[in-house]
Amino acid sequence: MDLIVIGAGPAGISAAIYAKRGKTNVTVISNGESALQKAKEIDNYYGFENTISGSELYEAGIKQAKHLEIPFIEGDVLNINYADNPDDGFSVKTTAGDFTAKAVIIATGTKRVKSSIKGTTKFEGSGVSYCATCDGFFHKDTDVAVLGNGSFAEAEAKHLSPIASNVYVLTNGDENPSISADEKNIKIVSQKIDDLYGENTLEGVKFADGSTIPLHGFFIALGTAGASDMAKQLGAELNEKGDITIDNDCKTSIDGLYAAGDCIGGILQASVAVGEGARAGMAASKYIRQLNK
Ligand SMILES: Cc1cc2nc3c(=O)[nH]c(=O)nc-3n(C[C@H](O)[C@H](O)[C@H](O)COP(=O)(O)OP(=O)(O)OC[C@H]3O[C@@H](n4cnc5c(N)ncnc54)[C@H](O)[C@@H]3O)c2cc1C
Repeated sequence: MDLIVIGAGPAGISAAIYAKRGKTNVTVISNGESALQKAKEIDNYYGFENTISGSELYEAGIKQAKHLEIPFIEGDVLNINYADNPDDGFSVKTTAGDFTAKAVIIATGTKRVKSSIKGTTKFEGSGVSYCATCDGFFHKDTDVAVLGNGSFAEAEAKHLSPIASNVYVLTNGDENPSISADEKNIKIVSQKIDDLYGENTLEGVKFADGSTIPLHGFFIALGTAGASDMAKQLGAELNEKGDITIDNDCKTSIDGLYAAGDCIGGILQASVAVGEGARAGMAASKYIRQLNK
């Protein structure tokens, strides 16, 4: 593939439409959870005399993209890496398979699932991490935990398995683990978590029943992979708020990697996401044309 757009909200669809109109071979991957679907009434979007619901606007965008014969893949994107063959650009790992693309636009919206476990903020950077690819190496031959219960948590645990001694996947009270792992050192623990403990650095996790597991690292992988998780894994620059840094073309610090919409922060509105998507789609299209010359 030439271009993968991750996200089918206003930013992703707008990016895909502009790329397609720029004669780029583009595919959209999404897991079907746009913020727009939660907006009951939209009165401030251009061109609608009467109130339109967010889901109507969302469906209209998808229909428009499908009308332009833009292919869609349904699945969670787990991570983005550089492809083994540099000519292929990026490798996008998803629950629907792995795909390569010369350029990628991240348009995943804001990540709304946050950890509310006590101690998370205190130990950020001193044991608590949001990226196994970035920080896994610091926990070589130690015991670590992954907080989450889904394909994203599973992928993070599998990444840590060959590095760490033991990887505990903590579902925090969810008795129905959806993780499947053959690796012997991955252990699923479904007890409810009380807090994280330690003096200045993380020393372990304490459960509601008073039991503890000593830990060197605690990786948060709740919900699905967010934009910053994906960008960080590739080494893209983030700002002090943790949002992806972009230039005027919505290009990140990495060639071929773009980001648009709510996932880059700023004004979280559909009109802004559409505009940023357009910029990213046009810029990615131009980048691919230059590569293909
Ligand atoms: C309750 C509410 C009311 C709102 N009201 C208004 C309003 O009146 N006017 C207005 O302009 N804006 C409104 N907004 C904001 C607007 O919905 C957002 O600004 C807009 O949807 C952002 O578009 P986006 O494409 O950046 O992200 P989103 O619309 O959130 O789309 C994100 C896309 O990324 C996909 N995705 C995310 N993670 C992954 C992953 N790991 N793998 C695969 N796919 C993934 C999702 O499936 C989705 O397709 C409202 C938002 C909410 C929540």
